[in-house]
Amino acid sequence: MRDRFHDPERVRQLAARIGRRMTRGWRIMEVCGGQTHAIVRYGIDELIPAELELIHGPGCPVCVTPIELIDRACELACTPGVRVCSFGDMLRVPGSSGDLHSARARGGRVQIVYSPLDALAVARAQPDTQIVFFAVGFETTAPATALSVARARAEGLRNFSLLVAHVRVPPALEALLDAPEAQVDGFLAAGHVCSVMGLDEYAPLCERYHVPIVATGFTPVDLLEGLLACVDQLEVGRAEVVNQYARAVASSGNRSALELIRQVFQVEDRCWRGLGSIRSSGLALRAEFAEFDAEHRFALGVPQPLPASRCWSARVLRGEVKPTACPEFGRACQPLHPLGAPMVSDEGACAAYYRYRAPGAVEASAVDG
Ligand code: SF4
Repeated sequence: MRDRFHDPERVRQLAARIGRRMTRGWRIMEVCGGQTHAIVRYGIDELIPAELELIHGPGCPVCVTPIELIDRACELACTPGVRVCSFGDMLRVPGSSGDLHSARARGGRVQIVYSPLDALAVARAQPDTQIVFFAVGFETTAPATALSVARARAEGLRNFSLLVAHVRVPPALEALLDAPEAQVDGFLAAGHVCSVMGLDEYAPLCERYHVPIVATGFTPVDLLEGLLACVDQLEVGRAEVVNQYARAVASSGNRSALELIRQVFQVEDRCWRGLGSIRSSGLALRAEFAEFDAEHRFALGVPQPLPASRCWSARVLRGEVKPTACPEFGRACQPLHPLGAPMVSDEGACAAYYRYRAPGAVEASAVDG
């Protein structure tokens, strides 16, 4: 039996309401890769009117981590006395000349962990090894990273540091809207990011660019309610922040998590794979935590010029094309031998299309009870 967030009848009703509401075509971007996977998996894009185009956004933290940082992680893993701890899906993300898997095959030390606190435990257990946690993720994972480094400092651990790749969502939306080719009419914001950060950062974007932004969850009913809330606004010319995911999101966010982030991190410019450098889009350790910054602690090499790539991930991450438009999709690029990060990650758009839309894939249906 399906729960109310997967209720086929409710799904049908919402899709029909969206159709009745629309008087013209709209383009709505779902920001989060988890939402992209749900849309493709449940065929939400095939339930709604063809004139409502869903654009997949850059909300996959693994996908947007720049090649230079992958290269640094590989370099650290191959540095004597150092062990890199990382989430598992980072291991197959290609750098300029290999990934963390291949670094491990060359003798590098790489350990999969499920949280930064696991990496901290490794540091406690191996006092003679420098443990570097590859801190990837949006605002959702930043509080746990902040907690790990705060604890390391409190415990006086000298063998724990971070390679920080945390990124912030609102500046990326601003960059997408500033791009000359921008064609986004509204956004579904990622519910889990909003549960940490709240909604306050989105109101200035709504006002400045006149786009509605709806904090949205991840089930078929959530996504269709989010789309309806967006279309409702677009049809009457409104552009406000709406909270579809109120069961998890408070408009003020999670105060404890926000305070942890504020204590440990400061905002800085950050380079995103596919989008380039985006002002104020990254989190970096504050000066008082600089000793825990792996890029300060270790003498790392100068980034090398990037080789030409056949991967269209930049266009996919900007929402310009769907993954299936890439000439390498399902051919040279598949999950077991990816050419780009979006084919690797559980939140990558290319992986979603490969898993649920490639020939032979089994697609779930949001309307079959
Ligand atoms: S299908 Fe592969 S090569 Fe093409 S954009 Fe996606 S990750 Fe890159």
